[in-house]
This record gives sequence, C-alpha cells and structure tokens, in this order.
Amino acid sequence: MRFLLPETPKASSRQRSTDLSDENFKRLIEAMHEGVLYSDNNDKILYVNNSFCELTGYSYDELVGRIYSDFLIAGKDRIMMESKVLLRKEGIGDQYELQILRKNGELVWTMVNGIPIQDDEEKVIGSMGTYSVITEVKKTEKRLKAINQELNTFIYKLSHDLRGPVASIKGLANLARTEILDPESLNYIELISKSVHRLDSILTDLLEIVRIKENAIYTESIAMETLVDSILHSISPQEDLKKMKFTIRVEAGLNFVSDKKILSAVIHNTIDNSIKYKDSTKDVNIFDLVICTYHTGIRIIVDDNGVGIPYNIHEKIFDMFYRGHIDSKGTGLGLYIVKNGVEKLGGSIHMESEPEIGTKFVIDIPTIFN
Ligand code: ADP
Repeated sequence: MRFLLPETPKASSRQRSTDLSDENFKRLIEAMHEGVLYSDNNDKILYVNNSFCELTGYSYDELVGRIYSDFLIAGKDRIMMESKVLLRKEGIGDQYELQILRKNGELVWTMVNGIPIQDDEEKVIGSMGTYSVITEVKKTEKRLKAINQELNTFIYKLSHDLRGPVASIKGLANLARTEILDPESLNYIELISKSVHRLDSILTDLLEIVRIKENAIYTESIAMETLVDSILHSISPQEDLKKMKFTIRVEAGLNFVSDKKILSAVIHNTIDNSIKYKDSTKDVNIFDLVICTYHTGIRIIVDDNGVGIPYNIHEKIFDMFYRGHIDSKGTGLGLYIVKNGVEKLGGSIHMESEPEIGTKFVIDIPTIFN
C-alpha cells in the first residue's frame, strides 16, 4: 500500500495532452526529487510521494488521511492556503512560497506549484502540488537583503552628513559673490557655485532614493488637483516652466489613497524632464499632464514635444546615474526615482518616445487599500 497512487485523477485541461501511461506517470512521480502531495477539496491528504515524506519527516501512513492544513502549515500561512483552495476550486493553478512545519517542529521553506485536479465531468475534486525545498535560496535572499539595507543606510548617512558642509559652501559662495569685485575671481566663484549646486542635487536625489526604498509606505487620501498645484509651484526655476505651453487636466475632485511623498516625487521628476528636454528649435514647447481614474487607481500621462529619446537608449533611461543627452545637467537619477517610486506603490510605467518628436510617459498606480 505504501506509495500507491490513488486512482489517477484527471488533470486539468492544460496537463491532459500527455501520452504517458498511468504506470509510467506513477513511477515518474515516485522518482521525483520534489515532494508531491495530492489532496481532496477538504485538504485531506490522498497521496504523498517518498520525497514529500522525507521533506516533512512523517511516514506515508502518518500523512495520508489527515487534513494537511491542520499540522503541516504554519499558523501565519493558513489564511493564504485558504485562498489557494478557493483558486483550485475555480480551476486555477499557481506558484507560491510556503513554509512547511516538519514533524520535529522545524520550518522548511518550499516553492509550491499547485494545480487543480478534475474528474471526468471536469468537476474540481482536489489539488496536487509539487514542493521544492528553497531553504538555501531564502537564506541567501535574507543575507542579500541585509547587505542591501546596510548599503542604503550607508548612502543615507553619507548623503545626509555631506549636505551640511555643502550648504556652508553654497552660503559662502553667495557671500563671496556680493563681496568680490574682480571679474576673474567672480568667474571662479560662479563655477564653484554651479558645482556645489550639482553636488547638492545629487545628495538630495540619493536621499530621496533611500527614503523610497527603505521607508514604510504612509497612506493618506490625496486631493490630486492640490498636489499637482504644489508640484508645479515647486518646479525650479519657475521661469523654465513659464516658458512652456502646458495643459493640466486632472479629473475634477479626484481623491486618491497612496503615499503622497512618493507620488509627488514621481510626478515632479517626470514633469521636470519634459521641461529640461524641451526642443529649443521648436516654436512652441509643449507638455500635457493628464491624471484620471483608471481601474482601481489612477493613470498619469505626461506627454511632451521635446527632443525625444534616441531608440538605442530606451532600455537604459531608468538606470541609476544614466544620462542620455550629452548636455544633460541632471543627476541621472530622476527616472530611477520615478521607477522605484512607481514600483514601491505597486504601479507600472510605460514610455514611448520618438527623437525630435517627443516623449510620453504613462504611469498606472493602484489605490493602496490598508
Ligand atoms: P537626468 O538627470 O539626466 O535628466 P533622468 O534619470 O531624469 O536623468 O533621465 C535619464 C535620461 O532619460 C535623460 O538624461 C534623458 O536623456 C532621457 N529623458 C528622460 N526624460 C526625457 C524627456 N521627457 N524627453 C527627452 N529625454 C528624456
């Protein structure tokens, strides 16, 4: 009786095309390195292979007939497992990570591939899953996370501490500008001032990146028209904005629940680029901003008639410190901030650009439900 498969169930439509005989199929399952568990719709174990017994430390007889969610799943994962059972009942398979509670009380990380099992009438009668141990992968993942966090803390501290002396140099350069009369010396002061402003922008952007990556999301209801107004006012210098012909269309009364600071950084950097990369050879420099409800969240479209982005660098523009135009005076961090911000908010970003015609960013961000 040990390791005897129950009547071979009918696999869901995607697996049905196999021409393996039942016998070969059973031998294959027995020989697999991955654990295999087959259960009915009430989580009762109908079959496990040898590898699953080794994985859990239980014997075949100790497993079959028992409700697996009662003793193999750690408490915190039980709710997730309930959602998996519902998925299977709807005929849907998926892949997910799960901690299995071994007989000796140890927790083992596994990657599960679960599929629904149907009878001849295509009624879902249970589910089958393969379980691969991923303990080492999880340990490496944890180590990498810690290193990454250490690196972010280092960048944050360094940028934060450097801003003090940078602010002093900025102040001194401003003072020197008013006191020094010699044109050559004034020219040097001007160059120092430009460099120190650039350094300040890099430090500000680095701080923004670490904040986005490390800080927890703080949700609030955001009045989008007010937010856009304050972003436009914070564009610096304002003269650059005033030289543009821009249209702002924000859906009337649109309130959106998300992280205001991150959302603001995303919109600010995108608009900033439309201004920075305007095409001075064109009579009118245009950018349009549209924000409207989209699915469970909002869609932001920023469209300009600027210099456009060469096709060969489309893939690179979201990279850290990447600057695509020789005369770019930016830090090369703007779109990196945008990408990280959008990802943190669970959204997506899409860019279309044609050299000399213009660039369009479409950003979708879902509402964050607490
Ligand atoms: P930068 O500080 O150089 O502006 P970003 O990360 O903001 O860095 O953008 C990366 C590059 O993508 C820019 O250097 C530029 O080449 C290109 N780019 C971004 N937005 C636009 C735009 N609206 N129009 C043209 N080029 C753009």
